[in-house]
Amino acid sequence: MEFATFADRAAAIEAEPADLEIVDLVTELLREASAASEADETASAAERRAAGGDATNRGRETTDDLEVVARFVQGRVFPAWDPRKLDVGPNTCYAAIARAAGTNVGPADVEERLAAVGEIGEVAASYDFGGQRGLAAFGAGADDGSDALTVREVFDTLAEVAAAEGSGSQDRKEDLLFSLFNRCSSEEARYLARLVLSEMRIGVGEGTVRDAIAAAFEVPGASVERALQVSNDYGEVARVARDAGAAGIDAMGLEVGRPVGAMLAQAGTVAEALDAWDGAAVEWKYDGARVQLHRGADGETRVFSRNMEDVTEALPEVVEFADERLDEAVILDGEVVAIDEAGDPLPFQEVLRRFRRKHDVEKAREDVTVRPVFFDCLHAGGEDLLDEPLTARHDCLTAVLADADDADAVDERDVGGLSLVWHTDDPEEIEGIDAEALAGGHEGIMLKNPDSAYTPGRRGKHWLKRKPDVETLDCVVTGAEWGEGRRATFLGTFELSVRADEGFETIGKVATGIDDETLAELTDLLEPHVLASEGQRVEVEPAVVFEVGYEEIQASPTYSSGYALRFPRFLGVRDDKDPADADSLARVRSLTEA
Ligand code: AMP
Repeated sequence: MEFATFADRAAAIEAEPADLEIVDLVTELLREASAASEADETASAAERRAAGGDATNRGRETTDDLEVVARFVQGRVFPAWDPRKLDVGPNTCYAAIARAAGTNVGPADVEERLAAVGEIGEVAASYDFGGQRGLAAFGAGADDGSDALTVREVFDTLAEVAAAEGSGSQDRKEDLLFSLFNRCSSEEARYLARLVLSEMRIGVGEGTVRDAIAAAFEVPGASVERALQVSNDYGEVARVARDAGAAGIDAMGLEVGRPVGAMLAQAGTVAEALDAWDGAAVEWKYDGARVQLHRGADGETRVFSRNMEDVTEALPEVVEFADERLDEAVILDGEVVAIDEAGDPLPFQEVLRRFRRKHDVEKAREDVTVRPVFFDCLHAGGEDLLDEPLTARHDCLTAVLADADDADAVDERDVGGLSLVWHTDDPEEIEGIDAEALAGGHEGIMLKNPDSAYTPGRRGKHWLKRKPDVETLDCVVTGAEWGEGRRATFLGTFELSVRADEGFETIGKVATGIDDETLAELTDLLEPHVLASEGQRVEVEPAVVFEVGYEEIQASPTYSSGYALRFPRFLGVRDDKDPADADSLARVRSLTEA
């Protein structure tokens, strides 16, 4: 396909305001690119077919117009997983444009126009590059002997731009870009400049291309969506959809060495988790940086960051971990944390410093050690595990790490690279885990649906990071219960009340978040105020104010206020407050209405 055709279609898409119409235009563009690829079938494609080869034919270099166009239309040159970057600074691009625009134009002139119009495409389109040959051959196909620039030539040249490294590479990049701009018409230059500077912005998002692939090749949108999640490559999915249909894209799986998007969490509460799921898998939320570890059958390890950058070289400890602990091809998902000499976690900025480090990694390692903690397994035993429930994936993870030669290293406290997980539907146990996580210097807890699949790159409701309390309440203690067993000599459960027009009304009970030492202190504090006892229960004169955190306030007939605190937690005694300063029922009401 000629680049002029692509530019023409891009202009039509840009001019179209309606989303549905845009999908139609992109669908049409993909069909055209597909027809162009077929008309211009490469020898390698013919050979592939002759060999009866794999229709999906993954991992080869792009030669197909359809693949190129499916990426270009989103402003991408390479797929998201691909480590190649153009690495073209704006000045290099301006210089290439200026050179192509003529002897009397300099980079300063390009910058001046940019300051005036604000957009590089508009600037590029404002010059006459003499690329009219491309336009003259418009619609005639690429192989008619004309000098028209094709999308594939643009891709190949940009691949050379990406490959230019080391000293003199910016000059080499400029030369290559000049060779393209020099053959452009104004409209081609507009979209080439935007492509080079990652500023395509013609209103085509990921969803648009997904829908267009589904429509162009008559495959289900859900299959396209899944294939995009595992491959992170719109070009490849479009090509496989065309060549092998729904069955082909359904067969696409993970590839060790090629990163996938990390499953993301949203903020949520214990109440939300326990209301929606059959118990929760509770893990510590480590304060570090996300990593995806790919270990090949050949023993090669690659480590990727959350945005799919290859960070292997910066994190030798993770590679060493893999060498020691893994003996099969796996993809693991986890967090890298920085630790001090005592093994205690350091703030995550320390990890980021290591992530960014390109030189003197060994030196950096002396200052800050990192260690990985894995919480998910996406691929093991030759199988993709994305559709398995979390519990099964975690079992695989445990097996993968424990099966390794060094089985002793799986130490319950040191974690040994394996994130601890508790399965429970008991809110009090969850509070305990949260308190332990915070005491251990971690960020808090993650709540995960034990039955949920792994959805790459998606922020779903199956992984919840516990929301910190937004508000706290200062409640008066109006009753208590003696503890049991070991705690029989302490008051253990405290009845909480808020101020009403007359006296106090109950709103909940708190028993969590209090260690033994504090219980003893609270007992000493409250005992002088006990008014009456009945079995375990005591009535307490309003005198002591507790600050409590909670997840939610619900309307409830259980307490006399008509409200109940869900998952209340003791945060401390407000020595500075009298019962008259405690929060009122009116404030509770306003919080529920907020
Ligand atoms: P946030 O960055 O606040 O959206 O929280 C989600 C992030 O927490 C994930 O992307 C991970 O980097 C990190 N994290 C720490 N511990 C865990 C865990 N046990 N499970 C999942 N994510 C975790």
